[in-house]
Amino acid sequence: MPSPMRAIFGLFHRHRNLSCAKVSSKNNLEVWHFMIEYENGIHIKGTGLWLDARRKADFCFVSHAHFDHAVRHTEILATKETARLCEHRFGKAKFNILEYNCPKKLKGVRVELFPSGHTLGGAQILMEKGGTRIVYTGDFKLRKSLTAKKAEIKRCDILIMESTFGLPRYVFPPLREVEARMTEFVKKTQANGKVPIFLAYSLGKAQEAMKILSNRGYKLSVHAMIYKIAKIYEEFGVKLANYELYQGGSMDGRVLIAPPQAKRSRMIENISRKRIAILTGWALDAGANNHVRGDEAIPLSDHADFSELIQYVKKAQPKKIYTVHGFADFARFLRERGFNAETLKESTKVKKTFNKELLVNYDLFA
Ligand SMILES: [Zn+2]
Repeated sequence: MPSPMRAIFGLFHRHRNLSCAKVSSKNNLEVWHFMIEYENGIHIKGTGLWLDARRKADFCFVSHAHFDHAVRHTEILATKETARLCEHRFGKAKFNILEYNCPKKLKGVRVELFPSGHTLGGAQILMEKGGTRIVYTGDFKLRKSLTAKKAEIKRCDILIMESTFGLPRYVFPPLREVEARMTEFVKKTQANGKVPIFLAYSLGKAQEAMKILSNRGYKLSVHAMIYKIAKIYEEFGVKLANYELYQGGSMDGRVLIAPPQAKRSRMIENISRKRIAILTGWALDAGANNHVRGDEAIPLSDHADFSELIQYVKKAQPKKIYTVHGFADFARFLRERGFNAETLKESTKVKKTFNKELLVNYDLFA
């Protein structure tokens, strides 16, 4: 048993890829054990719950419908918006739908979903058992979104958080500056008689870009993948305007939005006079546009930047933090700030079972 003063400790088991956190309540009357397994997704052992598993699981929480998080499991716990988007992406599945902030007992655990600010229906999950609160964030951002509910932060004992932009150099400019750069790009490109093209991930980022540009009165043509998801956003009350499905034809006075993989398609190659901007948080890195041979990279991201990651931890006040999906150094930055943090390391077996290409595509445009 740990001493009463030593409320928490973390232990990483290298061979089984398990991390074990023991957390005692403040009065030290109870000690709770949680085993966090990380292999193709996160499994809280003893709860029967998987979190964003990347291979089929019996029962899994899917935080949002991006391909690096969503798989067709036997049963999926998700918001109704994420369920709809999952169905669109991989067909029918058995869903256990939970609204934001409506706690429910599932698999012997009290679970509650709450907004992540990442996509329409994107959710974090709070799991509570015996007075210990575990939060898994999935992908999130704290900045304002025009198309997703603002993220919430709940206090917890154990926090499992994404850390995609977990280095101090990744601090994004205010949204109004990003919007001004997008507007400037359109104006300059059209003034030179060229077609402005934005490359944005088809779920979430593209609809955010549509909203930003249509709010400024621009007429939009969008790729079919983006168009179909925009229609689902509208089903759930997100108002998108001034857009049509791109089917070729004149692009005079119009702006094209396409997913990154369309860059090398005939659809874009057939537009002879054009300038291409990629929308990604990695735009803060010099030469980010070279990844897809674009003309410009603009830092519109659906992830938290470094300052938001720190802000999140300060507000959640966890006793133990596990970081996932990002720079291992982020855990060190947290420790330097006095937090008990470590990186959750993934099994080497993952490389054999996980479609890395999907992750690479997404990560490049985070
Ligand atoms: Zn995501």
